Amino acid sequence: MARFAPEALIGMADALGIMGGTFDPIHLGHLVAAEEARLRFRLDRVIFVPNGRPPHKKDYPVTPPERRCEMVVLAVASNPAFEPSRIEIDRPGPSYAVDTVTQIRGRLGPDAKLYFITGADAILEILTWRQPQRLAESCEFIAVTRPGHDLRRLEEALPRDLLARIHVLRVPGLEISSTELRRRAGVGESLRYLTPQAVVRYIAAYGLYTDRGSPAAETDIGPQPVSRA
Ligand code: NAP
Repeated sequence: MARFAPEALIGMADALGIMGGTFDPIHLGHLVAAEEARLRFRLDRVIFVPNGRPPHKKDYPVTPPERRCEMVVLAVASNPAFEPSRIEIDRPGPSYAVDTVTQIRGRLGPDAKLYFITGADAILEILTWRQPQRLAESCEFIAVTRPGHDLRRLEEALPRDLLARIHVLRVPGLEISSTELRRRAGVGESLRYLTPQAVVRYIAAYGLYTDRGSPAAETDIGPQPVSRA
C-alpha cells in the first residue's frame, strides 16, 4: 500500500516542495498548507518528508518513525501531486534538513526551484539548525503560519540575507495542530475532520497517543449503536 517518492520522479521536477515535519500526527492543516504552497509557488509536486530522528529534543515522546510515516502515506494518497518520502527515515543519524535538501538538490540539478516548506515557528529556530547558510543556498523556504502569528518575530530573529530566502504563507487551516490531535486522542475525543479518516482509523487501531494501549476514539471507527437510555 505504501507509495514512496521514486527517485526518478524527483529528478523530473522543475519546481519541488519539500514538506518537512515530525507529523506526529499529520493533519488537515499540513495538507492544506502543502496544497496552498503548491498552487501559489507553481510547484510540480510536494514531497512529504517525515523526519526519522528529530534533531531538536521534543518535550513529548515522539511516535516511532514508521508509524508517523505510515500516517503520512495514508494522508497524501488521494492527491497525485503529493508524495511521501522515506529519505530521512532511511538515513541513519539525526534528520538534518541540510542533508535532505542536498540529497534532493543532487537529483534535481542546479536549475530547479526547491522550496523547504515547514511551520514558521520551526523556521524561527533556523539559526540553530545544522549549516543554515549552506541550507539557504540550496533552497528557499516557505514558512507557513497559523492565523495571528506575529511576523515581527521572524524579522527580529533572523538576518536579512536569510529573510530574503523565506516566503511567509498564511494558512487559516493551520489552526489545527498535532499537539491538539495528540491531546484529543489521549482523552478519547473525536479526531474526525481534523485529519483524513484513514489516519483517524490508524490512530485508533494502534492506540496512538494514549497510554491505555487500546483504540483512542472508538466513535471514529464507524457508526455506533444508538443508545436508548
Ligand atoms: P516543530 O518544532 O514540531 O513545530 C514547530 C511548529 O511548526 C509547530 O506549530 C508545528 O505544528 C509546525 N509545523 C511543523 N512542520 C510543519 C509543516 N510541514 N507544515 C506546517 N506546520 C508545521 O517542528 P518539527 O516538525 O520538529 O520540524 C519542522 C521541520 O524542520 C522538520 O522537517 C525538521 O526536520 C526540520 N528541522 C531541522 C533541523 C535541523 O536541520 N537541524 C532542526 C529542527 C527542525 P504541528 O505540530 O501541528 O506540525
